[in-house]
Amino acid sequence: DPTHLSESDPAAQALGYRADATKVDKAKFAKYQPGETCSNCQFYHGKAGDAFGGCPMFGAKDVAASGWCNAYAKRA
Ligand code: SF4
Repeated sequence: DPTHLSESDPAAQALGYRADATKVDKAKFAKYQPGETCSNCQFYHGKAGDAFGGCPMFGAKDVAASGWCNAYAKRA
């Protein structure tokens, strides 16, 4: 789906985005902690239960609720 952020998108690669957070390159992105996903990141705009939602880091492209990138910040 072109509205979904691709892992091969240059912006996604720069931030180590993976649609499945458990597949994050943990050597390169050592701040990743198990359990962190877009759905519990403060930047995620998806509604609870949605598989994808907006993220200001990636403009018009939606990210996966189960995803992760290096800009992750835990929602308060
Ligand atoms: Fe997911 Fe947060 Fe990264 Fe956006 S900033 S892609 S919501 S982890």
